[in-house]
Amino acid sequence: MTQDLAAYAAERGIKYFMISFTDLFGGQRAKLVPAQAIADMQENGAGFAGFATWLDMTPAHPDMLAMPDRSSVIQLPWKPEVAWVAANLVMQGEDVAQAPRNVLRKLIGEAAEIGLHVKTGVEAEFFLLTPDGEAISDEKDTAAKPCYDQQAVMRRYDVVREICDYMLDLGWGPYQTDHEDANGQFEMNWDFDDVLQTADKHSFFKFMVKSVAEAHGFRATFMPKPVKGLTGNGCHVHVSVWDAPGEAATTNAFAGAGEGQTGEVGLSESGKHFLGGIMRHASAMVAITNPTVNSYKRINAPRTISGATWAPNTVTWTGNNRTHMVRVPGPGRFELRLPDGAANPYLLQAVIIAAGLDGLRQKADPGIRRDIDMYAEGHKVRGAPKLPLNMLDALRAYDRDKSLKSAMGGAFSAAFLKLKHREWNDFVSHFSRWEKDHTLDI
Ligand SMILES: [Mg+2]
Repeated sequence: MTQDLAAYAAERGIKYFMISFTDLFGGQRAKLVPAQAIADMQENGAGFAGFATWLDMTPAHPDMLAMPDRSSVIQLPWKPEVAWVAANLVMQGEDVAQAPRNVLRKLIGEAAEIGLHVKTGVEAEFFLLTPDGEAISDEKDTAAKPCYDQQAVMRRYDVVREICDYMLDLGWGPYQTDHEDANGQFEMNWDFDDVLQTADKHSFFKFMVKSVAEAHGFRATFMPKPVKGLTGNGCHVHVSVWDAPGEAATTNAFAGAGEGQTGEVGLSESGKHFLGGIMRHASAMVAITNPTVNSYKRINAPRTISGATWAPNTVTWTGNNRTHMVRVPGPGRFELRLPDGAANPYLLQAVIIAAGLDGLRQKADPGIRRDIDMYAEGHKVRGAPKLPLNMLDALRAYDRDKSLKSAMGGAFSAAFLKLKHREWNDFVSHFSRWEKDHTLDI
């Protein structure tokens, strides 16, 4: 593959490049650059004003340069004259430390220094709504238990087939699509990959799903809980750690007999300690994995119409059982069921590595495996922390977790906490109907 984006444009008939980066709130920002200007942009970067996005900068900051990462380029399958390319943010010759893709790249480097290469797959659930976002797009999709509904998935065949075809063309290895547990909700799965590739694909997937849905007259949303009473949008992550990146990976460092309960489910000693890090830092990680006010309507939620939220409420792990925060479905990997559709694709992967590496360093113990149905018997669990009840509690938990904060980077953590606290203050100063209903006649 040529390293030169101008040559890539000539080979593929690309007219425009979208030089794209993701800000602290997960927003994807881009500039459209004509192919004839891409050579200069590849060398010198595309200039952005950081303050105009969700990054902790002022209008007085110098230009932030988005340097395209050639390895991430994707020709838009639905508009082949345009190519999307993820960029790394640089200011005055230095990586912007608070930028999510840079946070992830730094942690990938730290893992590589000790010979570990994290691979993940994400399950980015979404709803198809009417264009105003107010109703489920398919008015016939009303079943109380709509998961795997054969008729309902076929009524949206034109949308999901188009997305799946594009993933096939891109070589992502998509392998299944279904109607999920909420009315109007879908999930499409593709192969797991090196963590940076997964984060780029996750970003692009959101862009692609929204674009295809719009073209069909619908609105796709990854919002954690878009419809009261229905199952929310999770973004479960399957995690394994290998001896080498890409195709060179041969040995799964997490697979092994190990000792004790983690060994019984096929996690090696390093898999156990990595999981121990996830468990230890879970309450703080939530600020990243469940980053919006709305996220807390999905976790800790009351039972949905379908019978289960499929989201955790407590920091527990188990074998092949979907009612816990972490499930170990088979040897050599685990599934983190905490994250939701609002999670920033880069920070999500970064915080998993940060917590896991700290677990390895500290030889963290994940605690006992619990084999109960958490939705029915969760109230009986003693000694496991409850997940934060709202965004403010999560931000405070993150702020208290000094080792996770420093593993994610001091500059990133300070910027993230500052902007998210501002967002929280904005939320609590918003007057709601609930307040009037409950307070008007007091
Ligand atoms: Mg699912």
